[in-house]
Amino acid sequence: MARTYLKKATLTAQSGASDVHDIVQGILTDIEAGGDDTAREYAIKFDKYDGNIILTDEEIQAACDRVPEKLKQDIQFAHDNVRRFAEAQKGTVKDIEYEITPGLIAGQKAIPVDAAGCYVPGGRYSHIASAIMTVTTAKVAGCSHITATSPPRAGLGVAPAIIYAAHICGADKIMALGGVQGVAAMTFGLFGLPKANILVGPGNQFVAEAKRILFGRVGIDMIAGPTDSLVLADKNADPHIVATDLVSQAEHGYNSPVWLVTDSTELAKDVMARVPALIDDLPELNRENAFAAWRDYAEVIVCEDREDMAACSDEYAPEHLTVQAEDLDWWLSRLSCYGSLFLGEETTVSYGDKASGTNHVLPTSGAAGYTGGLSVHKYMKIVTWQRSTREGSKRVAEATARISRLEGMEGHARAADVRLAKYFPNETFD
Ligand code: NAD
Repeated sequence: MARTYLKKATLTAQSGASDVHDIVQGILTDIEAGGDDTAREYAIKFDKYDGNIILTDEEIQAACDRVPEKLKQDIQFAHDNVRRFAEAQKGTVKDIEYEITPGLIAGQKAIPVDAAGCYVPGGRYSHIASAIMTVTTAKVAGCSHITATSPPRAGLGVAPAIIYAAHICGADKIMALGGVQGVAAMTFGLFGLPKANILVGPGNQFVAEAKRILFGRVGIDMIAGPTDSLVLADKNADPHIVATDLVSQAEHGYNSPVWLVTDSTELAKDVMARVPALIDDLPELNRENAFAAWRDYAEVIVCEDREDMAACSDEYAPEHLTVQAEDLDWWLSRLSCYGSLFLGEETTVSYGDKASGTNHVLPTSGAAGYTGGLSVHKYMKIVTWQRSTREGSKRVAEATARISRLEGMEGHARAADVRLAKYFPNETFD
């Protein structure tokens, strides 16, 4: 099916892969050997911070006192929404008990991990919402120890609103440590913290690489690359809103792709004509990010019809997917690859990013083809158990012994044999 690219990316999120792995591996090795003191040295080196690493109750209270009342209410509102949605999700995780064959009973239990380490990025922007998304969800899942860590800013420490958010959402410890050193401290159990069972939260390439390297000895939510967003819009969409939404997501970073997929050349051209002025109107840092992201990574694709638009979107498997087109129910049932879906003009990715209640820690770089984003489920271990009556174990013992012998696993076979011999002494089994 013919697709027309009115704008094509000149770079991809994978462009420019460099020596990040070696840098991060080096820092992790140093910190594992040197412990607290070495982690502290990296905080001085990268963030020019020489203050307390684990914030005291007094420091937390002082930070909370500095947050304006209106912002506190907004953070509380966002926290309540994220908590409510996470509680609803938790309700879908059921313990089960099931009789597989007569007398042979198996079950599933959902057990929260003990210690969660929540990374709250803070280098470029103060990601208050990341504290809400990660800490609240860990709390609802039932983790018994939650650490939130965020980069301190030179001479200032962690942003007060991040501290406030982490505190009210339920963090047991709040740490002023960014990047690889923050991830390492939670994994290795530095500064008196319990060793994290799972690391969650977005971060830059150094944070993502640290999580990738440490995965296995600690669980992770996902490896997050630069944020990406796709808008599906038909001829009825409002071009000003579509353009504003694209720019809003391009400001994440210089390498944050935004894609417009439409079946209307007229709409596409209208949106493209509006974007530059909207970018120009942003504050300086945001403008630089959005300008580079639009120039190098953005794409505008005109498809033949809505079926092709949906197919195109599923191929990109975007982190954030917006539909501004007729017949939202059709789109909801047809689309299958996205981190979070925003249906209709009345909602937008910014709502989900900050306050509507769905989680904003989402799969990037096409990972939505195989996973969803952060949820209570990521903090929960779905484990199984079984027990059996003697009669119920007979058939399974026979099958186990034969399968094991065919595999050459005589020890396994004898674990079944010994039971058959004990429970059914008057019978013979081949
Ligand atoms: P960050 O907190 O991820 O990183 C800051 C840390 O990077 C610093 O503390 C420092 O230790 C480390 N660092 C900086 N330069 C380094 C170097 N040369 N060597 C080793 N370490 C170094 O903050 P950020 O940089 O602003 O990045 C935040 C990221 O999180 C962005 O990519 C943003 O898109 C992403 N994000 C994603 C989501 C999502 O849900 N996908 C949400 C919010 C933010």
